[in-house]
Amino acid sequence: MDRQAIERIVADVMAQLGQGSVPAPADGTIPVAVSARHVHLSPEHVEALFGKGYELTKRSELSQPGQFASNEMVVIAGPKGSLERVRVLGPVRQLTQAEISWTDAMKIGVRPPLRESGNVKDSAPVTMIGPSGSVSLPEGLIIAQAHIHMAPHDARQFGVKDGERVSVKISSERPLSIDHVRIRVSERYRLEMHIDTDEANAGFIRSGARGLILSDHTAVPSAAPVVQQTVLPYEFKQKLLAREHIQAIDETEIVVRKGTIVTPLAKDTARELGKEITFIK
Ligand SMILES: [Zn+2]
Repeated sequence: MDRQAIERIVADVMAQLGQGSVPAPADGTIPVAVSARHVHLSPEHVEALFGKGYELTKRSELSQPGQFASNEMVVIAGPKGSLERVRVLGPVRQLTQAEISWTDAMKIGVRPPLRESGNVKDSAPVTMIGPSGSVSLPEGLIIAQAHIHMAPHDARQFGVKDGERVSVKISSERPLSIDHVRIRVSERYRLEMHIDTDEANAGFIRSGARGLILSDHTAVPSAAPVVQQTVLPYEFKQKLLAREHIQAIDETEIVVRKGTIVTPLAKDTARELGKEITFIK
């Protein structure tokens, strides 16, 4: 019996036992959620905008545990216009931060940098208006970089680490691949990719879409004219290789680590597309 057959039997048995210790998404994909423009406020700024002693009131829970959309909304004002009814998310944070899209930014005449949420140092100035007052800050306005929240067991399954950047392909009528997607790992997180409305619009992406991590390796540098192009095998580092991965990977040779589960459908698809799956230790 060849090694792949053995791997497959092991994988099937593990699946039947419900083992593998990780609640793996059955197909190796990641749920994608679209973040509309929103703000996070410090307690001080909640009071400045909504009145002394004011506290945010919960409207609905968000997918990440403990996070919620509040009933409160603010206006974000810029030199060329303003964004009305921008939702405040709770709970309050130490630092106030406003996350808008590039389309929003052009509309109101500001140029926020692309940032990881929470990193507002030297970001763009922002003015917010609430029912009881306004706040103008020298920094705090960003365009949020696409990221994936995951728990440590998800990170192990996908073979990624906190802070790493990966490429993600999201299937749709107009499929979209997003590079430099930041991995964020915490016990508090639930597996979910967050993109903004510009990214969602570019890829016709609606709630319920699924993303696939394509790579966590740096691409072969393509500086200078390449005289002789060597075709390198694609190194697949996740724990589960599904049909969608095979379809998304351009290389004809896919190297997977021993222990990686390759679904029978993935094997069939590889065969159909003339791709070779090789196991390494
Ligand atoms: Zn997020």
